[in-house]
Amino acid sequence: MKMRIVVLALASLLAGATSGVAEDYPARPITMVVPFSAGGPTDVVARILAEGMRASLGQTVIIENVTGAAGSIGVGRVARAAPDGYTVSIGHWSTHVINGAIYNLSYDLLTDLAPVSLLVANPQLIVANNKVPATDLKSLVEWIKANPDKVSAGTAGPGSASHIGGIYFQNFSHTNFLFVPYRGTGPAMQDLIAGQIQIMLDQSSNSLPQVRNKQIKAFAVTSKARLAVAPDIPTVDEVGMPGFYISVWHGLWVPKDTPKPIVEKLAAAARAALADPATRKRLTDLGQEILPLDQQNPAALGAFQKAEIEKWWPLIKAAHIKLD
Ligand code: ASP
Repeated sequence: MKMRIVVLALASLLAGATSGVAEDYPARPITMVVPFSAGGPTDVVARILAEGMRASLGQTVIIENVTGAAGSIGVGRVARAAPDGYTVSIGHWSTHVINGAIYNLSYDLLTDLAPVSLLVANPQLIVANNKVPATDLKSLVEWIKANPDKVSAGTAGPGSASHIGGIYFQNFSHTNFLFVPYRGTGPAMQDLIAGQIQIMLDQSSNSLPQVRNKQIKAFAVTSKARLAVAPDIPTVDEVGMPGFYISVWHGLWVPKDTPKPIVEKLAAAARAALADPATRKRLTDLGQEILPLDQQNPAALGAFQKAEIEKWWPLIKAAHIKLD
């Protein structure tokens, strides 16, 4: 009986401690680790979201860019951080799914991180610098076939979304070209505009602003439907690459063992940000689709990430992607 009372007292003490922590949380700024360069697609989403989350959290969300190895270094930093809700990981399909199939990670994507929320998804655009003579996707493929040694594609590193998109494009179009790895597609975009590289399979959120400024050209969007905010860009189905769909979905994670009430607070802040009309507009203007409200929670992200790992790991492992 005595023992039971002690156990009960301990349990209520622990519950009180946890809820106390959550009540005070956040008491200082939160760091959101972006695993790619500043100015790229992940960074842009992170900065818009961080600003939107500040209102409900009452604290600043600081962005820290920890780059390298297709985002796996930045994600590792969060996996090893204290589980106190002050270090969060923003990432996507390639950082939190694909990387596990090609890198020998020092952390487990499913068990060393706890899911917070699904956020947004965007397709890629097939883009080229303005000096590339092609005027449509068909002539782009012909031009690449005629110039196999002169064409290089920028990527955010081996296994990144832009790299996987490029490999998929090569297989689909029976073309061959070089990949040039960067620490994110932000710097790759600068080189594309400058003409150092010729093409990219790049997320719409990174490419659309430069397409609108006519600094680069877009040949197709890798989705079933045209983007409402860029109706002039045809879909892959319309221009001879039927079914060449790529959607890069984003999510938010924290280190495992982060107290549940803190995870819930972060998820609620992400939901509030994604419900805010100004934040929504900034994201949708970049071609991002805001994922449905019923997916903006830890359980939905956890289930989806697991399903994506089951779907993609066999395909990626079979592709024997080289890390150099
Ligand atoms: N996540 C992007 C990609 O793999 C890169 C970036 O965010 O800079 O294409």
